[in-house]
Amino acid sequence: MEHRAEARVDSAAIAANISHLKTLSGVDLMAVVKADAYGHGLIEVGLVAEKSGADWLGVALLEEAIALRTHGVRAPILAWLLPPGSDFRAARTHDIDVAVACIAAFKEISALKSQVRIHIELDTGMTRGGFLDEWDEFLTLDFSDVNVVGVFSHFACADEPDEKQNTDQLNRFNIMVADLAAVGINPPIKHLSNSAATLKNPDATFNVVRTGIAMYGLSPDIKTLGDSKSLALKPAMQLRAKLHLVKRVPAGSKVGYGATAVTSEQTNLGVVAMGYADGIPRIAQGAGVFFDGKRAPIIGRVSMDQFVVDLGASTTAVAGDWTIVFGDGSQGEYTADDWGAASLSINYEIVTRIGPRVSRIYAPHVY
Ligand SMILES: *Cc1c(COP(=O)(O)O)cnc(C)c1O
Repeated sequence: MEHRAEARVDSAAIAANISHLKTLSGVDLMAVVKADAYGHGLIEVGLVAEKSGADWLGVALLEEAIALRTHGVRAPILAWLLPPGSDFRAARTHDIDVAVACIAAFKEISALKSQVRIHIELDTGMTRGGFLDEWDEFLTLDFSDVNVVGVFSHFACADEPDEKQNTDQLNRFNIMVADLAAVGINPPIKHLSNSAATLKNPDATFNVVRTGIAMYGLSPDIKTLGDSKSLALKPAMQLRAKLHLVKRVPAGSKVGYGATAVTSEQTNLGVVAMGYADGIPRIAQGAGVFFDGKRAPIIGRVSMDQFVVDLGASTTAVAGDWTIVFGDGSQGEYTADDWGAASLSINYEIVTRIGPRVSRIYAPHVY
């Protein structure tokens, strides 16, 4: 296939990040590979992570977990978004651990009488997933038909390490774990930390850390925690796109839908072969591409399949040349952090939304 846009994923960077995060936490690591491994590719990253020392894999959906199993992942896998009515029997068949966050789901799992491995999810203050209003009733239930492997919760503000909410959630976690112990449930595995907490809050480490964004080499929040480099993380993805046209235009040229941008002088414009259908945010302004040692900023609105960049009054670019949309920043190229800021969003959303028309290329092959 002729590629017009490629996400090049550096498996060695993922391996290095896993190794760094494991050393930092000193405990087992769950590689979070939900949402197509944050856009990096579920199966490839799952296999690379396992091969590189990840002790667990974590996903949102049961389908994601089953796909990992059927492609040969043998490490324990936790899936945490299984509402009542999910195929809990399939979870058992494929040896997948499931998070339980409500009584209705717990009862369906119990009714199978097959010792499904569960992790009890606690709502310690984020008011999203996990037991909250049903907690007291949950504690009165019969746990003999399930295998309680773990108990866990999720931080709302781990990327703001000084927020009091972090301590409140940690305290609440310990109280709820004690509630379980009081009814004779002592899950061997406790986990609370996401990437930000793994990097900045050793008090929350327990037995396993669940790292997503940091494993891909990106900072959970560059403003509060610093950038990839300062956190000793290696961004794993370089996004490249072809110029499908280069044209010289005079001053006063109106560019793109709505004619929102006008060239101030004669310049060369490059038409980049990616658009919002491929995950380039339509509102992005202030990012662009990198070509021949220079940044070429977006001019005008991003369209569905293409966007236009200003290559400057003199350029060697011709149609068919590759540009770097984002990378690790070491050459001066834009980063996923820059694209996040340029779109009033975050690096997580930038990498996760890269669409299926973009080829993923893995190098080196480590699995
Ligand atoms: C997505 C997710 C994570 C990983 O978060 P990062 O900030 O990417 O490290 C961890 N735990 C749960 C429950 C999640 O949903």
